[in-house]
Amino acid sequence: MTYNIAVIPGDGIGPEVTAEAVRVLNRAGEIFGHEFKYTELFAGGSAIDKFGEPLPQRTIDACRQSDSVLLGAVGGWQWDTLPGDKRPERALLGLRAELGLYANLRPARLHPALTDACPLRPDVAARGIDMIVVRELTGGIYFGERGRVQTDMGEAAWDTERYSYEEVRRIAVCAFKTAERRGRRVTNVDKANVLESSRLWREVVQETAAGFPGIALDHMYVDNASMQLIRDPGHFDVIVTTNMFGDILSDEASQITGSIGMLPSASLNGRSSPGGPEFGMYEPVHGSAPDLAGKDTANPIASVLSAAMMLRHSFALEEPAAAVEGAVTAVLDAGYRTSDIMSHNKIRVGTKKMGTLIIENLGMTKL
Ligand code: NAD
Repeated sequence: MTYNIAVIPGDGIGPEVTAEAVRVLNRAGEIFGHEFKYTELFAGGSAIDKFGEPLPQRTIDACRQSDSVLLGAVGGWQWDTLPGDKRPERALLGLRAELGLYANLRPARLHPALTDACPLRPDVAARGIDMIVVRELTGGIYFGERGRVQTDMGEAAWDTERYSYEEVRRIAVCAFKTAERRGRRVTNVDKANVLESSRLWREVVQETAAGFPGIALDHMYVDNASMQLIRDPGHFDVIVTTNMFGDILSDEASQITGSIGMLPSASLNGRSSPGGPEFGMYEPVHGSAPDLAGKDTANPIASVLSAAMMLRHSFALEEPAAAVEGAVTAVLDAGYRTSDIMSHNKIRVGTKKMGTLIIENLGMTKL
């Protein structure tokens, strides 16, 4: 089977980590008998430099025609002084909106070999961390009405949090289905003690739960959830939450697993893809890390694991996905580390070498 992948390497370390993910995908294709065809596209700062805009129409069109999208990261100091709607990060919001990617899945798992990279108390880390944040991605305050007005207290500004029944229902369904494949527990995170939008959100999540009787559901206010992530992360299996709460909590969850360089993500639109079950865009949780760009030191594992999520969620290729994840585990177990996860007595490697090691172990896992 041939799969068409739109590849947006982006800025900073984006091209370096994406190149390793593509090499790993190619090797997985060789081993398991699949072909991956790539269309390289521009978005973010590189698109501003080449075409004068962060998200050219050609990029949107080519993504729509592909079976899935693999993105590196966008942004960098070169473009920091541009006005808001001209900045590289607009490309991300634009792609999510144009492709209808309403469900963002961010797994946060503490790899057993990396417990010493976890900033939590050793007894808390030893209990294990393995959760996934299901974040609503195309609604809420990031997309709501906003404005500025002059008042007698000086200039005022506002942003609006707004969610409809259907927006909440479809992300809740995604969370319950995700829980069916994992620990069968969903924690809904909101601020229903204060916000009307959260009260509707909680009602709809509760109503949707009735269709998933085998899944345990609990509710938590976002301030409490941010504490429990530190105090008792083992409590969480699947967290479902709004765009802004998910943005913040998934970064917190990522940090307690050691390094942001380890964490993949998938953004799905609920529609089937020509190549498989669901169209999606796959990208590391981290940004473009301009401080590391071009130095061959960035950790490519988040990008490689994003490619594994693509194999699973967009192409239904469970065996190759598990093989890629297994190869990453094998490399970490063997003691290889990029600088961000380096610790005593381990072997420090660069971006390319880490990719090569994963590829070598991928072959060994299968053969
Ligand atoms: P960042 O994630 O790029 O970097 C945060 C820290 O993590 C830095 O110290 C960086 O060196 C480190 N880091 C990140 N990825 C790493 C990796 N793979 N290996 C090792 N270390 C890694 O976040 P930032 O510094 O806040 O943002 C830098 C730029 O990226 C900004 O322009 C920002 O807007 C953009 N950004 C883009 C995305 C995206 O494209 N999805 C997400 C977040 C930030």
